[in-house]
Amino acid sequence: MTTEMDIGVAGLGVMGRNLALNISDKGFSLAVYNRHSDPVKAFAAHAQGREVAACTTVEEFTRSLKRPRKILMLVKAGIGVENTIAALKPHLQEGDILVDAGNEHFAVTERRERELSAAGIRYFGMGVSGGELGARNGPSMMPGGERAAYEALAPILTKIAAQHADGPCVAYMGPGGAGHYVKMIHNGIEYGDMQLIAEAYDVLKTIGGLSNDELAEAFSAWNEGELESYLVQITAHIFTVRDPEGQGQLLDAILDASSMKGTGTWTVEDAASLNAAIPTIASAVDARVLSSDKAGRLRIAKILAGPDPKDAGRVLAGFDRKALIDAVRDALYASKLCSYAQGMNLLRLASRERKWNLDLPEIARIWQDGCIIRARLLSRIKAAFAGDPELPNLLLDPSLAKDLAGRQTGWRKVVALAAEAGIPTLATSASLSYYDTLRRERLPANLVQAQRDFFGAHTYKRLDREGDFHTDWSATS
Ligand code: NDP
Repeated sequence: MTTEMDIGVAGLGVMGRNLALNISDKGFSLAVYNRHSDPVKAFAAHAQGREVAACTTVEEFTRSLKRPRKILMLVKAGIGVENTIAALKPHLQEGDILVDAGNEHFAVTERRERELSAAGIRYFGMGVSGGELGARNGPSMMPGGERAAYEALAPILTKIAAQHADGPCVAYMGPGGAGHYVKMIHNGIEYGDMQLIAEAYDVLKTIGGLSNDELAEAFSAWNEGELESYLVQITAHIFTVRDPEGQGQLLDAILDASSMKGTGTWTVEDAASLNAAIPTIASAVDARVLSSDKAGRLRIAKILAGPDPKDAGRVLAGFDRKALIDAVRDALYASKLCSYAQGMNLLRLASRERKWNLDLPEIARIWQDGCIIRARLLSRIKAAFAGDPELPNLLLDPSLAKDLAGRQTGWRKVVALAAEAGIPTLATSASLSYYDTLRRERLPANLVQAQRDFFGAHTYKRLDREGDFHTDWSATS
């Protein structure tokens, strides 16, 4: 057997086998390995005629790789990665590069990097986005760890990445867990986008009475304009798919309880630890949690009073359908901008805290293609941060601020209509409140400060004088 394969892929699940074929398409020789041998055999059969060593043992796999070895692990995060490292480690040597290309928590990646560095193994964390098709045809990749390890991987990564007019959708993110962190924020933004789209769907369907065909038409039209994005495009398509198991459209037969794997929750946890406000993304996570208990909701629906969604259309009161569709489009666009502003702000705070030196325009650049959040808007986000690296908040970019100003009427109308009709818009309303909180000169935080000082002597500051003040509130009136 040859011992000169360019790169190894460990884990032949959905992502691993597709990324392996992509690597092979780009002219690199590779070795593949999987814990159970059936996927290896299936891959070998599929990859006949390609320069691939299909290995059923770690000994064979590691022996077949050029040194220093480059191995991409695409296995289940947590225990899957732990087991794969344990299996590979005895067969690795100083200088070998071991990449976790799954969705791992950045702090876990940093711990493993420290542990493996003792044996001279260069452990590296890389976020990969784009799902099955992205892995096969060109994903967006967010690598982080030792820069020299990135330089060794770059000739392969730049070839297999999605190719955008602005360059391949991969770039070195920073040291340690920076790559997995950026992927985590990508996923947090993805949660926000998906929930905002779901709320737009709910308002148009429940208040506007749009059929699936009409929804497909509206989303297709949006995908021709400023909302052009992968998620809007696939949503338009979803509305058209017929139920293979029954009558009508498949979407209507799907249980309304969403699940998640953890990256959204990690984003919210880290934002809280860094004092970063990400209300849109946090609302998207909350919305999934709340949706997941369908049985509980069915019970509660019989107890808690409120407008009947069946009569939601009455709130339109003369506001026509075309106007509603345009208002929802504006609300979606403006809310999406708020969500990106929150995600980018969190990246900046995390970068400062952990000294990662994250390059925001470069991150927006590599998200323009290959990944799930790819969208036309990203080129403007890239331009905004490239034009002013110190921009304190994305919404302050003059041209984006102008966009928001122009979307206000529709945005506020949608939130007001939904509230009146009893249709929840957790993420859309959180976005509007985020926007209004940022632009409000005087917030009710004076009262919160007074309360804190009342019960905990936490002191407060005054508008008219410097210093910290405390009042014995109960003795004063
Ligand atoms: P899975 O997460 O289902 O993982 C499949 C691979 O993990 C298989 O090789 C499997 O081996 C191995 N594995 C599972 N459990 C264990 C274990 N306990 N010990 C050792 N190996 C184990 O597949 P995906 O390809 O979907 O995902 C791979 C990684 O990429 C994950 O971290 C995922 O979050 C991430 N990812 C996935 C995306 C997607 O769209 N699917 C998109 C972006 C990232 P075996 O076949 O022997 O069971």
